[in-house]
Amino acid sequence: MPDHTHDFDYVVIGGGTAGSVIASRLTENPDVTVAVIEGGPSDVGRDDVLTLRRWMGLLGGELDYDYPTTEQPRGNSHIRHSRARVLGGCSSHNTLISFKPLPSDWDEWEEAGAKGWGAVPMEAYYARLLNNIVPVDENDRNAIARDFVDAAQAATGVPRVEGFNAEPFTEGVGFFDLAYHPEDNKRSSASVAYLHPVMEERPNLRIYLETWAHRLELDGTRAEGVHVRTKDGEELLIRARQEVVLCAGAVDSPRLLLHSGIGPRQDLEALGIPVVHDLPGVGENLLDHPESVIVWETHGPIPENSAMDSDAGLFVRRDPGGAGPDLMFHFYQIPFTDNPERLGYERPQYGVSMTPNIPKPRSRGRLYLTSADPSVKPALDFRYFTDEEDYDARTLVDGIRIAREIARTEPLAGWLKREVCPGPEISGDAELSEYARKVAHTVYHPAGTCRMGAADDELAVVDPELRIRGLDGIRIADASVFPTMTAVNPMIGVLMVGEKAVDLIGGESR
Ligand SMILES: Cc1cc2nc3c(=O)[nH]c(=O)nc-3n(C[C@H](O)[C@H](O)[C@H](O)COP(=O)(O)OP(=O)(O)OC[C@H]3O[C@@H](n4cnc5c(N)ncnc54)[C@H](O)[C@@H]3O)c2cc1C
Repeated sequence: MPDHTHDFDYVVIGGGTAGSVIASRLTENPDVTVAVIEGGPSDVGRDDVLTLRRWMGLLGGELDYDYPTTEQPRGNSHIRHSRARVLGGCSSHNTLISFKPLPSDWDEWEEAGAKGWGAVPMEAYYARLLNNIVPVDENDRNAIARDFVDAAQAATGVPRVEGFNAEPFTEGVGFFDLAYHPEDNKRSSASVAYLHPVMEERPNLRIYLETWAHRLELDGTRAEGVHVRTKDGEELLIRARQEVVLCAGAVDSPRLLLHSGIGPRQDLEALGIPVVHDLPGVGENLLDHPESVIVWETHGPIPENSAMDSDAGLFVRRDPGGAGPDLMFHFYQIPFTDNPERLGYERPQYGVSMTPNIPKPRSRGRLYLTSADPSVKPALDFRYFTDEEDYDARTLVDGIRIAREIARTEPLAGWLKREVCPGPEISGDAELSEYARKVAHTVYHPAGTCRMGAADDELAVVDPELRIRGLDGIRIADASVFPTMTAVNPMIGVLMVGEKAVDLIGGESR
């Protein structure tokens, strides 16, 4: 006998960044029922999650799925990819830096076959976002971060930007916009902005917490629902009368498809997973924003105030013909030596860091399974710094040189006692590249593993309506559908994917 309490109009798998948007918007219509399958617990009342400045305390903890990378011969094999296991997903863990993707990012998607996702139509979705997106508050603007902004402006000549989302930019330095409430440093995550106000009030919204989706239920080519295991070990089939919406993120969306027999035939057969639908693009096109780090010791302690310890940044366009920035920096008000320490560097008592980052990386990685057992973590091979022209590594080398220029410039120079790593004696291109790659870390932006493309693009996983190619009744909406990486931090882009997904779903079936 089917258990009708587990039948809904829509089943949203993953109550994360995009999933929170979609579940909230769909249940605005009281006649529509929605189930959210979320692997983690609620974030309600959890100060460790809701307080933005405590984000580092969540790294590697009980709310982190914590995915390793495969060996990276040209990079850092020790990188761990944090993915949040809690309502709100990574927006409940991240630093909430909020950049509307640049027009050139959206236009690049459209050129890659994502018809209807160009800059002009996408603009409306930014206006819909419910998150409290504000510039870093005056009280959170640390004196050394202010001096970084002044020095970077003087050293590079880029414009100072107050409000990066006000208009498109190619270069600039300033304090970020953040999705937060400055008065108490609380997050304005996807769950806080979209679910908290409605989750107790809407009988048509049911959130299954600490419940893991491990296999899709298909009838021929139609997705009927998903098999889940609850916290208590109960196995349930949650059925979708209208659609399944997969929002488990760039690691777990392709992982669930592969375990459901949807993916590259040869890979699935090699693991003994029955092939339900041969879809060669699943897991391909693994993207990220890798960055390196330069650390300085300061003459003494730095003032305490901050929103989340990395409140300002710099964008540079080295190629004057480029559509957008091609080098980015976060400025950290802490000595970020976790990776350099592995090479023998020491952490100074007081210090700061600059982290050159590659906005448009050219290396492409791949996610794949190593076992048919759904509890085994997938392999993430980012192939960091493997692009043929060595563009990615060169970007970091250029970044270190620019960072040194900024550090030599007042008013920042007066704070700095010495460069700790890589250290002034490391100055040649080859040795800077070696250092930069070996200490590289991630800013946790995996994307692209179920990329969107034209309906006839065989390596695309979803079409421009976010429907999985060759299947019915199932879409994907999360960071995995990114055809290419946005030049800016991706969270706002993911929220906008969520908002647009609601329109696409509504256009057909609401
Ligand atoms: C530490 C950190 C800092 C970051 N900083 C920034 C930043 O400042 N600015 C920015 O723009 N971006 C930042 N990012 C990246 C950004 O947060 C992500 O790109 C974005 O939130 C991804 O959203 P998503 O909807 O694709 O996935 P997620 O938000 O990860 O949502 C996926 C959800 O699905 C659930 N789930 C997964 N698998 C299953 C399953 N099988 N069954 C049930 N539930 C499942 C998860 O528990 C999770 O809640 C950061 C990320 C991290 C981790």
